[in-house]
Amino acid sequence: MSSWWQLGESGYSGNKLGVYRVTCAFCMESGKFKSVFHAEKKKPNSDKKLNFETLECANCNGYVMVLWSASEYGGRSHDYRVLPWPLQIEKFPEHWPETIGRYWLQAQRNIQDENWDAAAVMARSALQLALRDQHANGNNLKREIDDLASKGVLPPTMQEWANHIRELGNDSAHPNPEQGPTNPQDARDIVEFLNFLLEYLYTFPYQIQRYRERRENDE
Ligand SMILES: [Zn+2]
Repeated sequence: MSSWWQLGESGYSGNKLGVYRVTCAFCMESGKFKSVFHAEKKKPNSDKKLNFETLECANCNGYVMVLWSASEYGGRSHDYRVLPWPLQIEKFPEHWPETIGRYWLQAQRNIQDENWDAAAVMARSALQLALRDQHANGNNLKREIDDLASKGVLPPTMQEWANHIRELGNDSAHPNPEQGPTNPQDARDIVEFLNFLLEYLYTFPYQIQRYRERRENDE
């Protein structure tokens, strides 16, 4: 989307905001809202309009602001953006392998809860699974990343970045009793590396695939 006037040109079906989909950022309840403010901005020479709506949560009395719009011709679809959104991560992208996604989710939650050791362990386990899923060879994470880079599966920039991720060198399968607590920044760094790796290995090819399917359907 390169203009807000494109909001709603694709998205959910119907020409009204599906309030039941909106989740309160404060209490995580969905759909229990009443509208307390509504304004519209019309596109010149068109039926297209942007709706500015403030919703009050009946459960906790928090407020969310929703910007939503139906498609320009016929209102077959609509889409929306909410501020603020829930910061708690509830699920992983459905095109990721299930086990990898589950470990990723636990790594994210451990970062939010500041369980740094657990976050690093889960991130390393998720990386291990993803690298094996891509048939990486090597007896540790670094060597497996090097192997995938040498085959062109991972770009050189990721291989170079891996050299700076300190937690990649730790062996979670054989913890050392002398090992100190995980540094918070090191935990955040390996989780961020994991995020990019999963985006690159699973989300990027998936989006290209969807783009291709759309092009084929259009032709
Ligand atoms: Zn609420």
